[in-house]
Amino acid sequence: MSALAYASSRNGAPAVSLSEAIEQGLAPDGGLYMPTTLPTVDVAAFAGLSSLPEIARGALRGFFEGDRLLPFLGDILEAAFNFEAPTTPVLGTPDRLFALELYHGPTAAFKDFGARFLAESLQRLEAGTARPLTILVATSGDTGGAVAAAFHLRRWVRVVVLYPKGLVSPRQEQQLTCWGDNVISLRIDGSFDDCQRLVKEAFVDVKLALKHRFSSANSINIGRLLPQMAYYVASSLEVERRTGAKASYIIPAGNLGNAFAAVWARTLGFPVGRIVLAHNINRTVPDYLQSGDWQPRASIPTLASAMDVGNPSNMERLRTLYPTIALMREQLSAVSVDDATIRARIGEDFMHYGREWCPHTATAAEVYSRLSPEERRAHPWVLVATAHPAKFNEIVEPIIGKPVDVPASLARLLRLPRHFMDLPPTLQAVAAALE
Ligand SMILES: *Cc1c(COP(=O)(O)O)cnc(C)c1O
Repeated sequence: MSALAYASSRNGAPAVSLSEAIEQGLAPDGGLYMPTTLPTVDVAAFAGLSSLPEIARGALRGFFEGDRLLPFLGDILEAAFNFEAPTTPVLGTPDRLFALELYHGPTAAFKDFGARFLAESLQRLEAGTARPLTILVATSGDTGGAVAAAFHLRRWVRVVVLYPKGLVSPRQEQQLTCWGDNVISLRIDGSFDDCQRLVKEAFVDVKLALKHRFSSANSINIGRLLPQMAYYVASSLEVERRTGAKASYIIPAGNLGNAFAAVWARTLGFPVGRIVLAHNINRTVPDYLQSGDWQPRASIPTLASAMDVGNPSNMERLRTLYPTIALMREQLSAVSVDDATIRARIGEDFMHYGREWCPHTATAAEVYSRLSPEERRAHPWVLVATAHPAKFNEIVEPIIGKPVDVPASLARLLRLPRHFMDLPPTLQAVAAALE
């Protein structure tokens, strides 16, 4: 078999191998890497598989065809996916409703899957190199913590996290700053957009490029996107086993990386029905599906802060699959939910189902509640639970009127001392901090 090639979504850069796409993060023409063909998968062959690493291996191996990482794929997955992603029934409803719990990893959000997979992959590609890699991450809250946790104490890499001062939750901030060693946390006096701009400026700065070997760990990196497919594959097979029907997913969405993974799982032939995107009031995608006009804008801070994205970068990947608005509308729908409704939904679902949702997951629960009773009954639905509510205790606890239990891995991080630097939002300040 010849190697599967990866091309830029903007068609302005040569195709590369998967390893090269993972190492580069962004293509040189500013586009996002995509496989030039989609591998075929024999869905029936998954019938006997039950562990997440096994299922992931079956789903991902075609994407690794001919790549130098292929021989390590099994080991990478065993090391990265050492926690569960259960699909659990939501009790107390007559409908077939489930939650896909993606918050059982070390930093209690789904970003752990992609970050840990990326770290294990780069470990195999980079460990012997003399010049350490510098991974720059702009974060609105969860990405930075997951990436820092995944790369902490790996000697061939340095992680530099940029986060907006005052715009992440107190426990998120703790997870961004509790590392030290090879992790540098920069608290930027600005917005998430400023952090993202600084990362992009650093990438293209000629002087900095002479001193540092930069890479990225945001969801523009295909090494974060691919592994996220695994839990949709496992979950959809599980729901099909339990109900005999295809599962439809409601996904809290920001940069569309998680949603894109669900789209891929469905495209490969796994039993995924409808895919509905739940956005906060950053409504670029719902507006686009309605009007057909793509109008990126500045992000607005909300309670579901990890979804505060005004210009979702993975739309560029979605367009390569669904090039016309008509096709996109057939395959996806999107709804926007405001902060007051997020609060109300957290309270309602705790009262009715005894479920504690984080503000992001609550957007999906709200979108579900707005479906017609016929739609709710037509097939099983799965709410994608993207973060543990304990990460957002200052929002959730006053609403449900009780403390949220803290998972053990999160509790450990909350006890560690913080290390960070306060910086103005300028490239000069970031460059100095990199010294
Ligand atoms: C990152 C994040 C999202 C949004 O995911 P995208 O892949 O950016 O669409 C939703 N919920 C939580 C908790 C997150 O951390």
